[in-house]
Amino acid sequence: MTGGGWTLGIESTAHTLSFGLVDKDGIPYPSISDTVRPDKGGIHPREAADHHKEVAPELFRRILTENNLTPEAISNIAFSQGPGLGPCLRIGASIARGLSNRLDAPLIGVNHCVAHIEIGRQQCGCDDPVLLYVSGGNTQVIARLEGRYRVLGETLDIGIGNMLDKFARAQGIPFPGGPVIEKLASEWLIQNPDHSMEGLELPYAVRGMDLAFSGVLTAALKLVENGQALGAVCWSLQEHVFSACVEVAERALSHTGKSELLLGGGVACNDRLRSMCEIMSVERDSQSFAPPRMYCIDNGTMIARLGWLEQQVGRITLLEKSAIDQYLRTDQTPINWA
Ligand code: AMP
Ligand code: MG
Repeated sequence: MTGGGWTLGIESTAHTLSFGLVDKDGIPYPSISDTVRPDKGGIHPREAADHHKEVAPELFRRILTENNLTPEAISNIAFSQGPGLGPCLRIGASIARGLSNRLDAPLIGVNHCVAHIEIGRQQCGCDDPVLLYVSGGNTQVIARLEGRYRVLGETLDIGIGNMLDKFARAQGIPFPGGPVIEKLASEWLIQNPDHSMEGLELPYAVRGMDLAFSGVLTAALKLVENGQALGAVCWSLQEHVFSACVEVAERALSHTGKSELLLGGGVACNDRLRSMCEIMSVERDSQSFAPPRMYCIDNGTMIARLGWLEQQVGRITLLEKSAIDQYLRTDQTPINWA
């Protein structure tokens, strides 16, 4: 091993470029990140990639100085190989290849979705959870079965976070809209403690073990157009789509016989979703876990942690195998460390 045993993780799947570290024992250190925030419209893949290229040198400098490290302390370079936006992934992979070459450190391409699960397991100390992975682009219910993380149910159209962001954008709220929707919903609830769902009903997004969010988005936009208070619609939207996710997660617990539920992804920052998961888990003698918020949103530390795990079982990525894969699936990655 060259270097000081540290693994650097580079996250660049979408809106955020992030560098994170784990030490030689796999212990995580907080990430240094920068998120693109378009003045108007959604995330444009090439503009986000340009952003990542621009901020990369400064972020890399900061992750080293804030941890009192020299570049030579880094022994492994992990990066998000997929899934994600092609132009963004390519920037992260290029940075990884350059650093790997310069520092003579092996490259480890990792699966972004699996990284969300593994940082959650590490942070929460759970062993074999059902994962409710709710992010911008992804919404999946996942469980470990026969050496892979299997997708038991997922969104059939857009990710839950994208849906929240689109709803927010239509109200003039910039990206990321999820946290603002949460705030508007809870403020409305405080002012309307005797609320009912009357007049605020939305389509329910469950299809067997799968979910769908574009219909509920259209219906929520209509409610606002028809004069319902924005806070009321935010509340109803959260209640409907989070209930749908929790219902599928509960069925997954029941089918698999597992007794731990783990939240992951940016939408897992939401307090209402966290409390719904708690309530459901307590009702069925299970336990619900949610990682610290800095490890729910996209972060380089989770990439470093998964790179470290992969490296422990001898998996590194040869240069010629380091191409990104926009469509990498959660269940394509063998899990032989779990
Ligand atoms: P990720 O793609 O995992 O980085 O997560 C980003 C997504 O998480 C965006 O769609 C955000 O709007 C959403 N998000 C972040 N915080 C919250 C929150 N408190 N409530 C709901 N959604 C959130
Ligand atoms: Mg993510």
